[in-house]
Amino acid sequence: MVSHRRALDLRQGVLWRKTVFEDDQGRRTQIESLRFASFADQNLCVLRLAVTPLNHSGPVIFESALDGCRSNLERLPAYVGAPVFAPEVKWEKWAKSLHLEPVALNAGDDDLYLEMRTIHSGIHVGLASTLLPSIPPRSNSTERRSAWLAERQMFEPVMGETVSVDKFVTIHTSREAPADRISALCREKLGAHLSLGFDHALAANAGVWRQKWHDCDVVIESDPEMTQAARFSIYHLLIAANPNDPKVNIGAKSLSGEGYRGHVFWDTEIFLLPFYIYTQPDTARALLMYRYHTLRGARTNARANGFRGAQFAWESADTGQETTPKWTADGRHRIWTGEEEIHVTADVAYGVLTYVNATGDTAFLSRFGAEILFETSRFWLSRLEEDAATGKLVLRRVIGPDEFHEHVDNNAFTNRMVQWHLVQAARIHDDLAQHDPQALAAVAARIGLSPDEAAEWRQAAGRVLIPFDAGRGLIEQFEGYFALREVPVAEWDGNDMPCYPVGYDHFNAGETTLLKQPDVVMLMYVLPDEFSDAAKRVNYAHYEPRTLHKSSLSPAIHSIMGIEVGDRARALQYFRRSALVDLIDNQGNTQDGMHIASAGGTWQALVFGFGGFRVRDGRMSFRPWLPPGWTAVRFSLWWHGSRITVCIRQEDATFLLEPGSVSRLTICVENREINLETGHVVTVSLCPEAAA
Ligand code: BGC
Ligand code: BGC
Repeated sequence: MVSHRRALDLRQGVLWRKTVFEDDQGRRTQIESLRFASFADQNLCVLRLAVTPLNHSGPVIFESALDGCRSNLERLPAYVGAPVFAPEVKWEKWAKSLHLEPVALNAGDDDLYLEMRTIHSGIHVGLASTLLPSIPPRSNSTERRSAWLAERQMFEPVMGETVSVDKFVTIHTSREAPADRISALCREKLGAHLSLGFDHALAANAGVWRQKWHDCDVVIESDPEMTQAARFSIYHLLIAANPNDPKVNIGAKSLSGEGYRGHVFWDTEIFLLPFYIYTQPDTARALLMYRYHTLRGARTNARANGFRGAQFAWESADTGQETTPKWTADGRHRIWTGEEEIHVTADVAYGVLTYVNATGDTAFLSRFGAEILFETSRFWLSRLEEDAATGKLVLRRVIGPDEFHEHVDNNAFTNRMVQWHLVQAARIHDDLAQHDPQALAAVAARIGLSPDEAAEWRQAAGRVLIPFDAGRGLIEQFEGYFALREVPVAEWDGNDMPCYPVGYDHFNAGETTLLKQPDVVMLMYVLPDEFSDAAKRVNYAHYEPRTLHKSSLSPAIHSIMGIEVGDRARALQYFRRSALVDLIDNQGNTQDGMHIASAGGTWQALVFGFGGFRVRDGRMSFRPWLPPGWTAVRFSLWWHGSRITVCIRQEDATFLLEPGSVSRLTICVENREINLETGHVVTVSLCPEAAA
């Protein structure tokens, strides 16, 4: 290879590559390509490839294939009647596994068509493709093998002449249409795009991206590196979600890698959803509808574990049933998260209400959200146990957000979120009873809800135990945490992040007070109004030095909470760590896929951290702080059908309410009420110490 350049154009969602190769006879050939998965038509992918023999003439053959021979690195498909292996052996088997089998391969005169079927779930995936050459080829041919077929076009460019081909691929699956229709759909769509051509497809894609960036961009003036990192995160968030499909969600690595097998975690509601709620509310709704559509699986989980109602899976896939593996990849360690990391059920409720509060989408709440809230409250009521000695309600044998500590009793994050969840569910129940009794009656009929259940939730909430050391003003992460061994962090890595103390790793850190990621601090982040500034300071000061950030979810939250409690130098450092996680691979595992939750956390750090945005008493409120050297941070937020553009500067902030569904809005800036009117920019001076 003589030269190679590759650029990802975030603005238009296009990948460009230009490479010059030289063979052993000194013949140099340039290959330039442009490719995109269209945002304007989700069933279309397009590639333009241009080849130029730079110092020679001769035949050039383009081979365009549809390749169904994909094996996955993760997880054996569930073949019916497959032998049961010991966990260690299973991993060997998992290492390369096929999930697709061929159904149809056709090499026609005008196109190629390949149809595969997923072995376990029986979903048909059809692909049709055609090559459109810039000049007629000298010859062409096709070839097919078991699950692979290709067309070849041969050209004879002279030295310096460029020949190019445009490859169009259309994709349909039996999730959207009956299996026997998808080949026709692929071909119809292919024909339509071929007649419109490459430039049209490119322009249509760019048009959608323009709108997306208009809604979602965040700019840090005077810091191009961090602006680029923020946009890189936003780009990935935009391509990770599908607003048109309410039966899918975002896996922990988005679609960018096989890590965590595409499973959905609490990452969605707590780390990703805020971005969508405030920039693409329709996408947020689709993500929550996935939880609605997986309620049946959640009910199955609850029943299988001996409980009532609905228990969302720690790791969720197509049905919502628990899919957490029971063993680590090497088969050596038992994984308990599927059984014990139950806070996810409260996190889903939290996501539902955050969405409803920001959008005012009461139709969603009464038709779908309430059912989620009520069924999950029933789960909590059966999962809580009464402690004989104190009469308190307790949750035994759980894992909190900090996964170093397993089988713990009364994790504060979990218990407090459950308490919050039960109170909110009872409130929504009573609101519906008062304002929309018909909707309530419909939910009650669907799930057999009796009139006293809401009162029971409220009453149970009041009895949930929250471990607390009143003397020190510290929430105890779980019962017995303060009695664990203190092992100070003594070493930091090249990113200035703590290393495991000598002799400790993920599997024995639970003997110590070290944390994988924020837990009490996380609680204070998600329920900001439930804790005083002093409580946040004391608890952050206690837990932050013990946190090893062995999850990429950790730094963004520490950035935000660092700003809130005045740990500003570290807040910026944490922000950089979160924003750069995949650009510099600072967790060392980007090869498994994007840390998409960290991308969502990066957006939150900008908007909720530096922008100081929170919803308080049902209002948008801002308590901004910018690091020295940043001249401004700009972003915009959707709120109840209107868009507000915000520019935070060192000494003031401006707000513009754009034309939308409300013409006036009262917001709160550093505890002052500010009235916005459509179309008028309002500038508010900031008091530099207010944020701390
Ligand atoms: C994660 C857990 C997850 C487990 C199995 C661990 O690395 O921390 O949350 O359930 O892998 O996928
Ligand atoms: C974290 C979890 C997270 C999971 C998937 C784990 O390492 O501890 O909080 O949900 O990764 O991102």
